[in-house]
Order: sequence, then C-alpha cells, then structure tokens
Amino acid sequence: MDWFESCRDQVFTDYAKKTPGSRSLFDRARAVLPGGVSGNLRFFEPHPLYIGSGEGCRAIDVDGSSYVDCFLCNGPLLLGHRHPAVMASIDEVEAVGTLVVNPELMVNCAEKLQRLIPCAERVRFLNSGTEAIMAAVRYARAYTGKTRVVKFQGHYHGQDDPFLLGVGPDREPFGAGIPAAALENTLTLPCNDLDAFEALISERDDIAAVLLDPAMHAGGLWGVDRDFLAGLRSRTRSAGIVLIFDEVITGFRMGLGGAQQYYGVTPDLTTLAKALSAGEKLAAVVGSAEIMAVTDPLADANVPRVFQSGTGNDGTLALAAAIGAMGEYERLSASGDHEALWGRVERLEERIRSVLAAHGIGVHVNRLCSMMQIFLTDLEPAFEAYSRLENRILDLLFLGLINEGVMLTLPTSNHIYFSFMHDETAFDEIADALERVLDRVPLGEAYRQQGQTERQGSA
Ligand code: PLP
Repeated sequence: MDWFESCRDQVFTDYAKKTPGSRSLFDRARAVLPGGVSGNLRFFEPHPLYIGSGEGCRAIDVDGSSYVDCFLCNGPLLLGHRHPAVMASIDEVEAVGTLVVNPELMVNCAEKLQRLIPCAERVRFLNSGTEAIMAAVRYARAYTGKTRVVKFQGHYHGQDDPFLLGVGPDREPFGAGIPAAALENTLTLPCNDLDAFEALISERDDIAAVLLDPAMHAGGLWGVDRDFLAGLRSRTRSAGIVLIFDEVITGFRMGLGGAQQYYGVTPDLTTLAKALSAGEKLAAVVGSAEIMAVTDPLADANVPRVFQSGTGNDGTLALAAAIGAMGEYERLSASGDHEALWGRVERLEERIRSVLAAHGIGVHVNRLCSMMQIFLTDLEPAFEAYSRLENRILDLLFLGLINEGVMLTLPTSNHIYFSFMHDETAFDEIADALERVLDRVPLGEAYRQQGQTERQGSA
C-alpha cells in the first residue's frame, strides 16, 4: 500500500468537501490570474483557500468556515485581523481621502520610528520590503562609492533580481528570468561564519554593504548568532562597509525595537515593512543620519545624491495604520506582552513535538520569538540538510490542519507566525486539531514508508 497516496486522497477529499466556494472561485480565477493567485506562495494543490474576512486571530473563508490563522498574510498581522487600534486610526483619516504630497501623518509616523528603532536617526517611506531593500542598497553604494553587496545563504530579501539567489545553501538563482549579469555584484557567504567573512574582506575593497535577515527566515528560521552579528558590526565599521539589517520580518516581532534591540547590535541601516503597518502597504528604510544624507536635497554639496521616489510612498491609510499599530506595540511591550506571547508559542512547540512523536513522526521545530517552522525528519538539525528535505508529508499535514479549522501555514510554505491575539484558547485549538488530523490520516505510516524508501534509494 502506498500510504502517502492514501493520506493524500483522504486529505484532498476532506478539503474538497469543506471548500466548495474556494473551488468555484478558483475555477473562475485561473481564467484571469495565473494559478488563480497573485503570488507563488499563495497557490497550493488541489486549489487555494480564498479568505473573505478576518477578526482577531481568525480568518474566515468564502464558504464561511473559520480558521485559527497562523499565516497572518505571511507575517504582517502581528496584531491579528482588524485590530481595534489600527481600525480606529484608519477611521480617523479615511474621510480625508488620499493625500498625495507630504501628509502630516508622515512626520508623526517617522517620529515614532525614530523613537522606537535604535538605528533610526532618519526615515524614508516606501511601499514594500522589496523596494526598501533596493533603496537601502543604493544608499549604501552612494555613501561608500563601492558596488558589491554581501548576502548570506538562506536569507531572502524580496523580489529584486540581484538578491534572488542563495536562498538555499548554494548560489542558485531563485527561479527563472534572472540574468547572470544581475547577480554579478552580489557575493554570497554561509551565515554565522565570521571567518569566511574575514577572509572575504581581507581580499576585497569593493564591498559597499552587508545585508542580512536576523531571523534567517526563508532558509528555515535558523536565526543568526548574536556573536556573529557583533563580529559583523565591528568588522564592517572598521572596513567602511554599511551594515544593513533587513527587519521586514523581525521588525516589532522580536520586540519593540526589533532584532537590533533583541540582540543589542545596531546596524547602519534597517528595512522595515510587514508588521510596520499591520497589513497596509508601507515600508521604510531607517538609519544613520550621515548615510541617509544621500537622500537629503539640503545636504552639503560634497554628499553624493541618490534618486529615490515613489508615487504611493506615503499613503494616508498605510501611515495611519502604522501609527495605530506602533502605538499598540508600545502599549503591549510595556506590559510584557511580547514575552508572554513567546511563552505561549514555546508551550505549543512542546505539544507539537509530543503529538508528532506519539505518532512515530520525527520532528524538529525552529522557534524564534513568535515565529516557528516545523521539519519532519530524524536528521540532526542543520540548514544545509533541512533545506533539501522532502516536504510532501508536511504539506499534507498543513492541509489536514486546514480541514480541522487551523491554518497553521499554507501548504508549500513553512511560515508560521503568531499574533498577540492568539490566546490560550487558540493554542489549545491548534494542538487539538493536530491530534485530530493524525488520528484521522495515517501520516505516521506515510512517514515510516517514506523513510524506508529513502534508505533503500540511498543504499
Ligand atoms: N525581506 C524579507 C526578510 C522578507 O521576508 C520579505 C518578504 O517576505 C522581503 C524582504 C520582501 O518584502 P515584500 O514582500 O514586502 O516586498
């Protein structure tokens, strides 16, 4: 018996029964949107789940079924759906419509960032994390007069061609359509290896910036060692290289001041998006006044000037949402809610481990603050090996959880995030749903069979 096929039939049949509205919307959608979606991650088989609304830690699909939502639009909803503080802030400005040039809100929002983020002496707003990375790197190049950028294997920095490589443990471009020439100025290194970095900078004097995601989220949430960050800080400073933290994911999630406050290492520039505006479209580059002077029309004549612009850079609703969200993060931080949430996530990790182990499934969990990723394997934990793991049983587990009312993440993704709105009840629902899936679907058998197949294949 092929246990995987039998699990797949069971899970797909349950999903078809639960989501007829998503199915018919998918049939309509795919005639106009490739794959019926607006981004690769949003598609999974047999058809995507279409969400109609959300409240707190719950999302409701077009069939009216409710899910504990731990995907949270891929991270931004750290306050959950429709948080009252964010909605009230948006309501206040909605009547004024779209203010296209220099709304006062922009100044209020920038002042808040200046207060909360350690490196934020100056601020520029943009629309997306991708744009923020493009801008930060341009500032670094203008400031240093150098061209190369170091990025680390397992780190993702958005859609711009030069950084869509090395998301796995090699230099492969991430998908088709990226010319080799676009990658020439990007140097890749293994993460957490200060010796490799030292060796590189001892040979080269053309490095403008070092770019990193302090969670190493795309590569499996392995995190970045504090000592490595501190080492990079001192070596980049002495070598005249701009250190950029990409805090698109970690910003506000790893505490009020993000990863830089959590680790006590202050970069020169930081990119923010996602939780910054709690789901509205806003990003920022923040950083040292000296470097960001390259964007200042009033800077001294000897300062090189970059061009950086964007029609929707300071959208009224997004700025209002960000002001509401940051106010709430401050309030929550003052009452210790970040740590309380991290404690709830830690307890969930223990329950996930014990339920999977009881079904004979090897599991490793990477957890950092309110983020989690799960790996089904008996291998020793290591980025290289794990990034090559076969994930088809894990994808079925995630789809099985959707059938049981928990969107732990989307199948094909492993991005699990929790919001301040995930209370003990929600965490109980997640653990109970996991037990129900494993009681109903013989994933343990599929796991054991897959293991045997692999061992025979490699013998
Ligand atoms: N940087 C990191 C670490 C990310 O995870 C992402 C997106 O997930 C980006 C940059 C790109 O942000 P955006 O999707 O807003 O362009």
